[in-house]
Amino acid sequence: MTQKQTLSFQAEVAQLLHLVTHSLYSNKEIFLRELISNASDACDKLRFEALDNPALYEDAPNLEVRLAFDKQARTLTISDNGVGLSQQEAIDNLGTIAKSGTREFVNRLSGDQKADAQLIGQFGVGFYSGFIVADRITVESRRAGLKADEGVRWTSVGAGDFEVETMARPQRGTSVTLHLREDASDCLGSWKLKSIVNKYSDHISLPILMRKEEWKEGEDNKGGEMVLTDEWETVNQASALWSRPKKDITPEQYQEFYKQISHDSQPPLAWAHNRVEGSTEYTQLLYIPASAPFDLWNREKAAGVKLYVKRVFIMDEAEALLPAYLRFVRGVIDSADLPLNVSRELLQESRDVKAIREGSTKRVLSMLEDLAKLEKEEGASDEDKGKYAKFYAEFGAVLKEGLGEDFASRERLARLLRLASTSTDTVTVGLADYKARMKEGQEAIYYITAETQAAARNSPQLEVFRKKGIEVLLMTDRVDEWALNYLHEFDGVPLQSVAKGAVDLGKLQDETEKKAAEEAAEAFKPMLARLKEALKDKAADVRVTTRLVDSPACLVAADDGMSMQLARMLKQAGQKVPETKPVLEINTDHALVKKLEASAHFDDLAQILFDQALLAEGGLPEDPAAYVRRVNSLLA
Ligand code: ADP
Ligand code: MG
Repeated sequence: MTQKQTLSFQAEVAQLLHLVTHSLYSNKEIFLRELISNASDACDKLRFEALDNPALYEDAPNLEVRLAFDKQARTLTISDNGVGLSQQEAIDNLGTIAKSGTREFVNRLSGDQKADAQLIGQFGVGFYSGFIVADRITVESRRAGLKADEGVRWTSVGAGDFEVETMARPQRGTSVTLHLREDASDCLGSWKLKSIVNKYSDHISLPILMRKEEWKEGEDNKGGEMVLTDEWETVNQASALWSRPKKDITPEQYQEFYKQISHDSQPPLAWAHNRVEGSTEYTQLLYIPASAPFDLWNREKAAGVKLYVKRVFIMDEAEALLPAYLRFVRGVIDSADLPLNVSRELLQESRDVKAIREGSTKRVLSMLEDLAKLEKEEGASDEDKGKYAKFYAEFGAVLKEGLGEDFASRERLARLLRLASTSTDTVTVGLADYKARMKEGQEAIYYITAETQAAARNSPQLEVFRKKGIEVLLMTDRVDEWALNYLHEFDGVPLQSVAKGAVDLGKLQDETEKKAAEEAAEAFKPMLARLKEALKDKAADVRVTTRLVDSPACLVAADDGMSMQLARMLKQAGQKVPETKPVLEINTDHALVKKLEASAHFDDLAQILFDQALLAEGGLPEDPAAYVRRVNSLLA
């Protein structure tokens, strides 16, 4: 073929082109990302083919992309010295749609301009996106290995057909020249082009070159202008840190990159850099920050991982790549499988993304486990030893959300918890530590939830545990109540709230204690019945306690009931809470309780006992004024 040939686009291409040229594209500049990515793919292909046939490099082994514009001619040219196209390849690849993604896109077109324009935003259209800004595109190319006179020129105005002809082209590779529309004039300037490259193609591993600009004074000092010189400069970083082998990257470089992507001035606590191979291929470079961003609690917003596809930037904050409870993680995931034009909607459905998400979750958890291990590592520096505590102080509460969100990781997450307890003043107790020092005969991990540590520590419900020297975990994060609903056991030991159900200390209670409790229950039966009657609007039951030592009474949630702390929290948040009444437990050894039987003010005392129990655990009497009146009348 030497003569000019006119060929028709495949029907789907024509449809696509019509849409591209007739719909307003809100994000015009992505055409450059698409064309540069094609250039980069062509260079990758050459590199691959040259493994078997080094002669393909001819005398130009340095692969690169050049951007050039001509203001007079209103053209922008993207050139590469990659593998190039033969005549037949130009006809096939630029005249038909082979990609399944684009074909699906075309199939979903509805004919309704507005809806379709939205669709186009989601899919992107590769090479044809050039027609967003150009009313004519000329492609000149020669495939590596073919003769200098076997080049091809392909031209189209983006309507029904295109022309191809043979041309002489000494240099290998492809030049795509866009004849820009009026409204794309801003692409005829270095500054604009550089900023688009910077945004989307900075980490493409090839250098992207542009002519250097220079200030030229006008004649007779009458103003001046920027003019292009003959010197070419690289305008992108030309290296994706994450695509380089680990051994070639220094810690300083990792930290510098973290700063760039996170805008965090503190160095990260840890990072992990891996290339994952198998059915889904991707590279992950994930960082654990040392301090929380201001919007950590906004679950909608804070996903911190950037998505790249083959080193081309796709999107920030790709929340599908990690579960919400790991939203503090910063970093980059670069997929080799996803299409360049993938949208957030498609990410949610993609099987590759699911695999990436699982792999990345595991990676983050093992990073945290490594930090946690350092806590007790002999010979570790103080700084290293303190890293996990630092992490936990910032992000521990977020991590807990995972107990309810990520069942597959629950066991690992439980091990990563650090809690306050009655045995220490710091928030440093791991469940494994607790388990290791459980008392002989202790069959559960005991915990209490409260609004503050002081309230938890002083709760009457802890009295019997203190007496017997049993450690109780103190939970005071807002998320604890919710998270603990999902954590029923740790390493084979059940978790048990000390404020729920009857205390069953199991083997920790000796026979005499058990017998005494049974006798007391029997002896106080008539009084319990009277109390139950007096408090029938407030208490679900009244029974003799085994958990109190110094206090006369306390409230506990029924076994199957919602804990009182959770009910209070939900009410504060304005949510409807099913009315469940608590159980009042009384301490039959207490002087006040002993006196109650014979008192002339039985009903008032019963009410006071109940309201005080409520106060002691951080609640408020339903009718505070009535409570005050009753206490005062007794005092007087
Ligand atoms: P995709 O890149 O997803 O395959 P495009 O529409 O971007 O889809 O490109 C279509 C095809 O045109 C490519 O697959 C490739 O074969 C060919 N092509 C586009 N640009 C170039 C180039 N610069 N060099 C070589 N081939 C190219
Ligand atoms: Mg492409």
